[in-house]
Amino acid sequence: MADKSFFVDTTKCTACRGCQIACKQWNMNPATKTVQRGSHQNPEDLSTSTYKLVRFSEFEENGEPVWYFFADQCRHCSTPPCKIVAEINNVNAISRDSATGAVLFDPTVKVKEKEFKDIRKACPWDIPRWDDKTQGMAKCTMCIDRIREGLQPACVKTCPTGAMNFGDRDKILAMALERLEHVKKKYSKAALLNHEYVRTIFLIVDDPGKYHKHASVSKETIVAAMKRAPATVG
Ligand code: SF4
Ligand code: SF4
Ligand code: SF4
Repeated sequence: MADKSFFVDTTKCTACRGCQIACKQWNMNPATKTVQRGSHQNPEDLSTSTYKLVRFSEFEENGEPVWYFFADQCRHCSTPPCKIVAEINNVNAISRDSATGAVLFDPTVKVKEKEFKDIRKACPWDIPRWDDKTQGMAKCTMCIDRIREGLQPACVKTCPTGAMNFGDRDKILAMALERLEHVKKKYSKAALLNHEYVRTIFLIVDDPGKYHKHASVSKETIVAAMKRAPATVG
């Protein structure tokens, strides 16, 4: 099986949240009660039962309303800093699937709070989450159980607009670069986020901070986090 990647084209996202629900359903994760916090985003953040979260960013610019959507999830890094730090702490909860490149957490491995804090801090995109009751960590699995059966990840399969895409790394990267070229004609700030280092590639059209504070990370920060072996995935 070839190295895999996601392409999340935020320009096609309508924030229907189908991906978020499909992720919960496939992973048999419980629903999270909706709370009014002055935003359409629910729940507030990722958790051990929410691996995929459509982040909503709503603000006014030059007197016009702006609304951005960011279907957040693990980036399945080429050299995962979470795994590096887990190994330094002798925590055997994180592995990397050699066939696809998926970075996998084993939620049955008990991790101490201090160890988890180090692992979460190591992730440049602030993805890992920990349950203080079970002491297990969890995040997006790349739907590895579906991929091994020749199926698409649940979030990709359910997306009605083509915002979520998944496939062989070379084809997904080519798709992302082609779409970037097209979108750039209208939006000069259009960019792919950290695509040299991650398997979840986002396309955005404005400053990353306007989507989510952890949407993008500087190259220096990523290389420092991946300092053991700053390899790229093409
Ligand atoms: Fe690990 Fe974070 Fe990279 Fe996911 S995004 S593989 S949790 S370092
Ligand atoms: Fe959830 Fe699977 Fe999509 Fe990951 S790949 S966000 S586990 S549905
Ligand atoms: Fe956006 Fe597709 Fe997710 Fe709907 S299913 S929120 S369109 S990425």
